[in-house]
Amino acid sequence: MTNETQIGQLVSSASETLSEISESPRLDAELMLAQTLDLPRSYLIAHPEEELDDVTLQRFRALLDRRTSGEPIAYISGTREFWSMPLIVSPATLVPRPETEILVDVAISNLPRKAKASVLDLGTGSGAVALAIAKERPLVEVVATDKSAEAIAVAAENARQLALPNVEFAVGDWIEPVLGRRFDMIVSNPPYVADNDPALAALQFEPASALVAGSDGLDAIRKLVDECRQVIKQDGWLMIEHGAGQKDQVENLLTQHGWQDIDCRNDYAGLPRVSRGRFVERDDSGGS
Ligand code: GLN
Repeated sequence: MTNETQIGQLVSSASETLSEISESPRLDAELMLAQTLDLPRSYLIAHPEEELDDVTLQRFRALLDRRTSGEPIAYISGTREFWSMPLIVSPATLVPRPETEILVDVAISNLPRKAKASVLDLGTGSGAVALAIAKERPLVEVVATDKSAEAIAVAAENARQLALPNVEFAVGDWIEPVLGRRFDMIVSNPPYVADNDPALAALQFEPASALVAGSDGLDAIRKLVDECRQVIKQDGWLMIEHGAGQKDQVENLLTQHGWQDIDCRNDYAGLPRVSRGRFVERDDSGGS
């Protein structure tokens, strides 16, 4: 047990405790202490000798305990930056991952800056992908769905705080809230982790429904490549984030369902991450 009361000592001992579970122990410790004090991190660095009172120490230790038990720092702070936007996150939403910025990048590189278009984001969670696209392409109308009403509430609040008017949110399972409409582009970061993946042990604070998709992790993607044909316009792109080992299976699924011009983009770690296909309705297909 430590009895440090000075800022500098506290940060050092907390970051030692956190080094077992975090890849950024010192940053985590500083963020939580700054949050406890309601002061910027720079204050801690400028005032290492300052003594903290008991109440503050207890509040800091409570946050430290949460982090030590594996809770993501984003849930403790309630925010995470994505595409240079501060986003509110809650346990109802996945914590946005850096690799998901690839999905945004692929989407906006297919959306001309000065043209109107409609984009559907399926399983939006905190709204990260929908909001980033809406920010980069103000003329684009984005519709974002999620089956979790709690997630949609978080996403809608993010849109309000970021003052992005061109996103509409709807609660419902995948395409269900938008049946009868068609979009120029569909994007999704669906759940894609296999239900027996050992990596899930470290993700237990995040909603399983946003992460896990059956025994091979492809249940949601199988649904998307099928259902999205009903709500995509002719020549429109479907863009899906997936696991690093799922490129070939996703390509096969897209092909089987008639998607064309299929390709895949790697993430920052050089791993296959976002696959896409274009919808070209065949004359003999009898519709969707
Ligand atoms: N990339 C995430 C992870 O394993 C999974 C996100 C997802 O299933 N959409 O950390």
